[in-house]
Amino acid sequence: MSVNRANPAIRLSRILSIPGEEVTDSGTFESLIYEQSGEQATLNVQDGRYKVTASNVGEDRFWLSGTVEATLFQECARCLRPTPVPVKVTLGILMEYSPKVETPYLDEGEAGEEVIKFGDPIFDLGDIFVENLLINVPFVVLHDENCKGLCPICGIDLNPDSGQTCPFENCPRVAQEKDSKNPFDALKNLDLPDE
Ligand SMILES: [Zn+2]
Ligand SMILES: [Zn+2]
Repeated sequence: MSVNRANPAIRLSRILSIPGEEVTDSGTFESLIYEQSGEQATLNVQDGRYKVTASNVGEDRFWLSGTVEATLFQECARCLRPTPVPVKVTLGILMEYSPKVETPYLDEGEAGEEVIKFGDPIFDLGDIFVENLLINVPFVVLHDENCKGLCPICGIDLNPDSGQTCPFENCPRVAQEKDSKNPFDALKNLDLPDE
């Protein structure tokens, strides 16, 4: 596997054959390159930072612990504005060194434990960081809990700070708001034919 040096990586060479030893690494990042369905993808973030420690726990195994945090941008579920979502994750990952492994993969150990098999002592943290950050993003992101969303007819942003106004008199959202004030107001304005 070609390790992408643009990603944060932790160098395990020094502790590779010394049980009990550990190595710590920390740094910042603005983007992470990861693999998604066999394709390379990039996750852009703000204020990405990490601090991880890998401990040699014997039998070619390593315990990776620490934290990774970043501000991700997700669309508001109602108005689609890019919305900053700060995420902080505590890591606890078991890894196993196996020189023949070209691309790290998740495996199951004898006791049913999850273990990442890897073959490059310079371990690329991109996939692990992306997976752990994304899994901690709330399923529904709102830029404001009172977000009014988009007009279902014209698509404008109905939030007061958007500066946009719905051009349609019969916009269902506008009508709904009128109705909730006085259900009979809407009737007054109806142009009923004289009989
Ligand atoms: Zn919104
Ligand atoms: Zn509208």
